[in-house]
Amino acid sequence: MRKNLVISSALVVAVTLILGYRIFGAQSSLPAKIRIATGGESGVYYAYGSAFAEILEKRMNVPVSAIQSGGSVENIHLLRNGRAEIAFAQNDIMTYAYEGTNLFSTEGAFRDFSAAAGLYPEVCQIVARREITGIPELRGRRVSVGDEGSGTELNALQILDAYGMSYTDLNVDHLSFGASVAAFREGKIDAFFCTAGVPTPAISELAAGGEVRLLSVGDAHARSLISQYPFYSRQKIPGGAYPGIDDESATVAVKATLVVSNRLSEQLVSEILKNLFEARAEIARTRAEAGDLSPESAVDGIPIPLHPGAEKYFLK
Ligand code: GLU
Repeated sequence: MRKNLVISSALVVAVTLILGYRIFGAQSSLPAKIRIATGGESGVYYAYGSAFAEILEKRMNVPVSAIQSGGSVENIHLLRNGRAEIAFAQNDIMTYAYEGTNLFSTEGAFRDFSAAAGLYPEVCQIVARREITGIPELRGRRVSVGDEGSGTELNALQILDAYGMSYTDLNVDHLSFGASVAAFREGKIDAFFCTAGVPTPAISELAAGGEVRLLSVGDAHARSLISQYPFYSRQKIPGGAYPGIDDESATVAVKATLVVSNRLSEQLVSEILKNLFEARAEIARTRAEAGDLSPESAVDGIPIPLHPGAEKYFLK
């Protein structure tokens, strides 16, 4: 009797395991939904992320949503708090988070995420009224340094610092790109920082009305920034990138990177990347940067570990 009980219990366990494996085995890596943390409505993360979300949902048959946020710093927090599975982040911000340095030094290192793919250059753009011709002239002006939770704000701080300036020299606001455009139009701010792909929808919208220029980061200042923070590279914004801005400007750029929670399996992340690369032409209809995706640039300039699924997809 006792023996029978042991055998039948063992059978129940075995059947449960087999059934469980069949139900969850191949699919275990697929969460109930996938949330992609992006940025503000008038930025590039949101446009790119929304197009990507739509494609992933169709191809993977799981609900996928693009979440709006303040930007890179908030996106890392969303991953950390389990409120997003995938996120866009600047490569400087993701590295500070991984190392627990700079603006992450108080909360400490967050290691439960990895890089999936480097996407495109994010250009540190400083949009100003026409009468302002250089960064030093921002002294005493009202300036939006980026949204709360943005990576833009750190770039603003570092660029100002390269000019020997700080928040005490300005009247600082924290506005999203969209809110910056509205405040600029209403005469409430004179300039705003915007680290994003070019053209950034918010700037295109504003530039079309004239009266704006892009301020350059001078040669010596760019060199000192890069020597202190190696995430920066030099970048030119060609004349005509925005309607009404015909002069070329010179500045610095960081790199937009797709990062993922380590809770996602190797198989799932490699499948997500396969879909991203297969659909690049389709996503490029929304954001041209997707057309430039390549396996080489996807793994270049990424100082934090690649997710095993990204290694599988790019390196094997
Ligand atoms: N890189 C920006 C940030 O983290 C966001 C850019 C965008 O929304 O396209 O602040």
